[in-house]
Amino acid sequence: MKCFFCKDEMTESTNTYMQDLGSCIVIIKNVPCMKCRQCGEVSYSGTVVRQIEKIVSDLKNSLTEVAIVNYSKTA
Ligand SMILES: [Zn+2]
Repeated sequence: MKCFFCKDEMTESTNTYMQDLGSCIVIIKNVPCMKCRQCGEVSYSGTVVRQIEKIVSDLKNSLTEVAIVNYSKTA
C-alpha cells in the first residue's frame, strides 16, 4: 500500500486515535493502522474504522471527560 500524499511505502503500525466529542475526549490506544515512513500519514482499514465508531458511540453517553481505551482489549 502506498501513501496517498507522498507515494512512499506504508507499513503496519499502531497509532493513538483521538476524538473530541465536545463533552468528552476519547483516546484509543494501540489502534492498528498503516503508517507512512516518510510523512507519518496514518490510514485505518474499514474494520478498524467500524470498531473505532463502535467504541466512540459506546462512550458518547459516558460522563467521563476523558475516556482512554486500549483498542487491543476491545477487538
Ligand atoms: Zn507519506
